[in-house]
Amino acid sequence: MSSTRFSAIRNSLSRNPIPIEEKGRRSELLGRNVFDAQKMLQHLTADALESVRAAVQSGRKIDRKIADQVAEAMKGWAITMGATHYTHWFQPLTGATAEKHDAFFDLLQDGTALEKFGGGQLVQQEPDASSFPSGGIRNTFEARGYTAWDPTSPAFIYGTTLCIPTIFVSYTGEALDNKAPLLRALHAMDDAATEVARYFDKNVGKVNATLGWEQEYFLIDKALAHSRPDILLTGRTLVGRHAAKGQQLDDHYFGVIPSRVLSFMSDLEKECTKLGIPVKTRHNEVAPNQFELAPVFEEANLAVDHNLLLMDVMDKMADKHHLKVLFHEKPFAGINGSGKHNNWSLSTDTGVNLLSPGSTPMKNLQFLTFFINTIKAVDTHEELLRASIASASNDHRLGANEAPPAIFSIFIGSQLTRVLDELEGVSKGKLSPEEKTELKLNVVGKIPEILLDNTDRNRTSPFAFTGNKFEMRGVGAKTNCAKPMTVLNTIVAKQLKDFKKEVDALIDKKNLKKDEAIFNVLREYIKASKRIRFDGDGYSKDWEIEAKKRKLSHNRNTPEALAVMTSKETLALFSSMNVLSEVELRARLEVELEAFIMHLQIEGRVYSELVYTQVIPAAVAYQNTLLKNVAGLKEIYGAAHKRFSDGQLALIEDLAQHILDLKKKTDAMDNARKKANALLDTNKKAIAYETNVKPYFEDIRHHCDALEKIVDDQLWPLTKYRELLFV
Ligand code: ADP
Ligand code: MG
Repeated sequence: MSSTRFSAIRNSLSRNPIPIEEKGRRSELLGRNVFDAQKMLQHLTADALESVRAAVQSGRKIDRKIADQVAEAMKGWAITMGATHYTHWFQPLTGATAEKHDAFFDLLQDGTALEKFGGGQLVQQEPDASSFPSGGIRNTFEARGYTAWDPTSPAFIYGTTLCIPTIFVSYTGEALDNKAPLLRALHAMDDAATEVARYFDKNVGKVNATLGWEQEYFLIDKALAHSRPDILLTGRTLVGRHAAKGQQLDDHYFGVIPSRVLSFMSDLEKECTKLGIPVKTRHNEVAPNQFELAPVFEEANLAVDHNLLLMDVMDKMADKHHLKVLFHEKPFAGINGSGKHNNWSLSTDTGVNLLSPGSTPMKNLQFLTFFINTIKAVDTHEELLRASIASASNDHRLGANEAPPAIFSIFIGSQLTRVLDELEGVSKGKLSPEEKTELKLNVVGKIPEILLDNTDRNRTSPFAFTGNKFEMRGVGAKTNCAKPMTVLNTIVAKQLKDFKKEVDALIDKKNLKKDEAIFNVLREYIKASKRIRFDGDGYSKDWEIEAKKRKLSHNRNTPEALAVMTSKETLALFSSMNVLSEVELRARLEVELEAFIMHLQIEGRVYSELVYTQVIPAAVAYQNTLLKNVAGLKEIYGAAHKRFSDGQLALIEDLAQHILDLKKKTDAMDNARKKANALLDTNKKAIAYETNVKPYFEDIRHHCDALEKIVDDQLWPLTKYRELLFV
């Protein structure tokens, strides 16, 4: 019965690492497969180059003639690189990326080749992609969805296919993907931040949001992964007793990377480098078989594309190395799960990081402006940020005392807290000359440059300032960063717009100097947004109580967290910033809820299957062994057998009890599921799954794991934690 498990283990033990070939320097490989600025310079005419540059810089449209030229050049380059196909590469609301490959050429009847890739194919396509989630948009509007070229993210060759990053929109222009809203949010951010940055430097012409993600993941042997239906179908272990050893020794964290994994990482990094993903750090994480990979930060849209591409490359590379990557936020109970920290900042075309304190009072006032506006934005819209990272799988992690709580708060460290406290004391209106000197030289002027290396780290904070950037820590390992980045950039852009208005009004109407006006507005923001600042232990019960007093939202699960997506305030915010319309937001909510429901539905089904076809049969088989043993003892010893069979009888009864409970709970879960499925309203259905179905999962697991503890190891069909995590 247990042959799958044991043959998987035999298989995995027989694997040798694929030898590492370190040919050529990494720097020589960088961007080899990317149609980047350098290649454009080689392959495009001056006109076309200028046109693409303008499109990238200011979002101006590329005209058709130029598009033809670019397509021609791209194709020429791609073919010399060995590409045979091209695809529009996009991010439907499934969370993954999608592609549909077409050959560059079509063969005609007479054997001659017909060229297919021109400007038209580059700029726009109509994939028959009607099965992607649209939240009803395509029923109410038009069945067709279009993909359209995003020239700000360069095309790349992956395998033998030229991939062209695109947005995915409906016939009437509604976004059907994660990229389109992100681009709109980044555009809004550019507009708002540039205006504000120009208070300090008139030369600023553009502000880019930057993103540096840190991807955590688990790696397990492919054969072992495939021996577990739950891992295969849900990405996590639905049952499984903790191994005798977990992460308590902390001996994995930053430890020596196992040679099989190192070989995988080396290949992975080479591939990433060719694709222009600037991977930089790798290390073991806290849990056994858990690792992290982080690149150098990039412009946010590009960074999002690179993260999605990375996840795809990881899947494929792992397969080659007979490994499987788990991106699920909580693949194993009892040990840490995986997240994806999003480090975020703002950078100008003059080369300045707006969230980096500088060496002069002016630079620091600029820093404080962006710093405080971000805090204010997060304070106002904390619930939306929470919604942006909500998912069935991330629900296992948020608030589970290994990842940040589901309550949003900001950690800024003691030094900056002191600065904000002092600024709060600035008097209203005009500043006296003494006050000006005090403020400029002693408060603002002395924000130490060493801050960068010196900010104390508070690992329990979901949103921490870490010297020259904010770090959003609740993002799930599987999550498309575009979602939190769309929200974060939209809310900060909105905040900066409001700030600009207020400052200008003080300058115009109250006759204040620019600095005075800025100080005055910032002071009010510091006061207004105090509740979001918290430097203590985010995991503690006390904080939950305190946060409630501060009226911070605490949405523990996905249906609760998502509700804010269609509140009056949210609809107004996103439409005023031209990021998402009401129709788009409602559709997105529908899609997110559907995904949540389906996730739990699949888990429920897999639970039933595991219980009835694997766990109970194993328990019964073992019970039979015991029964046979007791019968044998009875045959030999007659009435005296009890002296020898008490233990076995107790086990037989334990097994019977667990089998009975397991059957009851599983049937009850199936019934709750059927009831939930009958609900027509998506929101009600999601809540029913959360409150009536999901609680059974824990019970079912409890009995399965209890059985795993007592059933003969030889009879246990499911690969165990100690094998998954330590083989
Ligand atoms: P850890 O959180 O593991 O201690 P760090 O805080 O040093 O590591 O985070 C490093 C990450 O921050 C990297 O992914 C890096 O790309 C990113 N990062 C650094 N500067 C910026 C910036 N200005 N904008 C966005 N991300 C940044
Ligand atoms: Mg980090």
